[in-house]
Amino acid sequence: RLEIRNIRRFFEGRAVVDDVSLTVLPGQVTCLLGPSGCGKSTTLRMIAGVEMQDEGEIYVDGKLICDTLFRVPPERREIGLMFQDFALFPHLSVGDNVAFGLKGPKDQKRARAHELLDRVSLAQYIDDYPHQLSGGEQQRVALARALAPRPKIMLMDEPFSGLDNRLRDGIRDETLSVLKEEDTAVLLVTHEPEEAMRMADEIALMRDGRIVQQGAPYNVYTRPVDKAAVAFFSDVN
Ligand code: ATP
Ligand code: MG
Repeated sequence: RLEIRNIRRFFEGRAVVDDVSLTVLPGQVTCLLGPSGCGKSTTLRMIAGVEMQDEGEIYVDGKLICDTLFRVPPERREIGLMFQDFALFPHLSVGDNVAFGLKGPKDQKRARAHELLDRVSLAQYIDDYPHQLSGGEQQRVALARALAPRPKIMLMDEPFSGLDNRLRDGIRDETLSVLKEEDTAVLLVTHEPEEAMRMADEIALMRDGRIVQQGAPYNVYTRPVDKAAVAFFSDVN
């Protein structure tokens, strides 16, 4: 369970993330949806711990992981990351890529890597190298790698935007089912209403650093908060 309370981030005197509060429950996907520049990635970076908020607190399973004075380092937050350009290590095998963040004996790490690769139907490629896989397959390996350490929270920043349309739907569905199986709390960033409608249990609509509307996809879509929200959703079929 991820809870963000009243976080703010200023750049050059401007609040690019302005009083954002959110809760993401295990097994649920919350989409942070909004136009380019509205502050989505900055919000994710603060949760990941690679950027510091100027105000507010973040909790994982009720435990404070950072406020303005105290900060758990990124690698101890039990948070998984998947970004569009989160490339695999080219010099490591697929199995070693998935096992990269794991600790413990080698055979145990390999077993966990095999388990995750099996989950994304790629176990037979465990000893191959990333360049031997298609873009969609590499994306699934990246998902397996992000899930291997059993993160409680998964942060995804436009993870499917590098894939061609033909692949994207299948990978979205597969990603969702794996994340649900693992009971991960997912915060997914996108600027595409269609992706949010397809994947989210809950949509948080963001504009100019603020969350302007939040709710189930159907409600956000059918009862937009204002004219700008109507315009933003107008390209969803
Ligand atoms: P996109 O959909 O294009 O990825 P976004 O919603 O992820 O956009 P952010 O990357 O969070 O947007 O940026 C929000 C605002 O903060 C932008 O106006 C950006 O220019 C500004 N910004 C982000 N990082 C910095 C920085 N390090 N210094 C100054 N301004 C920044
Ligand atoms: Mg961004």
